[in-house]
Amino acid sequence: MAEWEKNVRKAVPYIPGEQPKESGIIKLNTNENPYPPSPAVKEALEELSHRDLRLYPDPDASELVKAIADEYELKPEEVFVGVGSDDVLSVAFQTFFNSQEPILFPEITYSFYDVWADIYKIPYEAIPLNKDLTIDPEDYTLDNGGIVIANPNAPTGIYLERNAIESILKANPGSVVIIDEAYIDFGGQSCLPLIKKYDNLLVVQTFSKSRSMAGMRIGFAMGNASLIKFMNDVKFSVNSYTMNRAAIAAGTAAAKDTAYYKSTCAKIIRTRERVKNALIRLGFEFPDSRTNFLFVKHKTMEAKTIFEELKKRGIYVRYWDKPIIKDYLRITVGTSSDMQKLLDALAEIIG
Ligand SMILES: *Cc1c(COP(=O)(O)O)cnc(C)c1O
Repeated sequence: MAEWEKNVRKAVPYIPGEQPKESGIIKLNTNENPYPPSPAVKEALEELSHRDLRLYPDPDASELVKAIADEYELKPEEVFVGVGSDDVLSVAFQTFFNSQEPILFPEITYSFYDVWADIYKIPYEAIPLNKDLTIDPEDYTLDNGGIVIANPNAPTGIYLERNAIESILKANPGSVVIIDEAYIDFGGQSCLPLIKKYDNLLVVQTFSKSRSMAGMRIGFAMGNASLIKFMNDVKFSVNSYTMNRAAIAAGTAAAKDTAYYKSTCAKIIRTRERVKNALIRLGFEFPDSRTNFLFVKHKTMEAKTIFEELKKRGIYVRYWDKPIIKDYLRITVGTSSDMQKLLDALAEIIG
């Protein structure tokens, strides 16, 4: 080991799902939306090509912040935007989780949380799920330095009712509670209204899933104006220009077109419900998903085998060779026709 290495910040990075280069595959492995974003996004980007990219973007991304605030009936001071919700969550971890007490999150959840905790040297405790993979709100009453919960949870897809979230908030007035609602538009009820009642609640959402814009990297947080101000102070101490001109323009256009994303989400929900029935007939079991993915386990065939067989047929799903979840596959809900191809392939594999 070189002598300077002792001062290196060593990190075990998050591993994103594969982005295969070949064409013609059916990609159901990273929960992207199979439909294009609102047509208004395309127009906004075309118009952008005539504008002046020599200039820095607006450091406050005020146009985008205002569009999001209008959509959710908030004040701009109650909205923070970032480069995907990954960036927003990372800023929130840095801003709010500075206690000696551990932060709490479920043992099975979005696998970025422990990565951020490690890199920012935040102590944490991963709380086991119930046997049926649900979260028990009672588990989140230990002394803690903060709480983060994905709702619906990933990769289980299980949704926690708003009153359960509220019971966690009631038990934790001394900590910031972050609710990561990356999938909330696919059937759950947002806990956003609770920000008026709990000044320690931060609700994080993203344009990547329901608004079909993973490639643009836009995420946002909503909460009490003083929480948002603390986050902006940290953000402006690291990088003022996180949101580029294209993301601001495209995101603003998307935020204004509510009807569009609601209709694509409705299509995905319809497809999901149909696929649930078909999967049951093929011998799969799964918790009830309120997201754009299904977390499935077959009664007899190993998940790893199914994963490999699907890949051979050009269908990518997600598999983790990890304890507790190694019997499961996470399958993103794609278009109706892609899902039919998936079901046909599964019928062939399972025989
Ligand atoms: C996809 C996802 C995110 C991050 O999405 P961005 O593309 O960075 O906005 C955050 N949390 C969960 C649970 C997710 O599944």
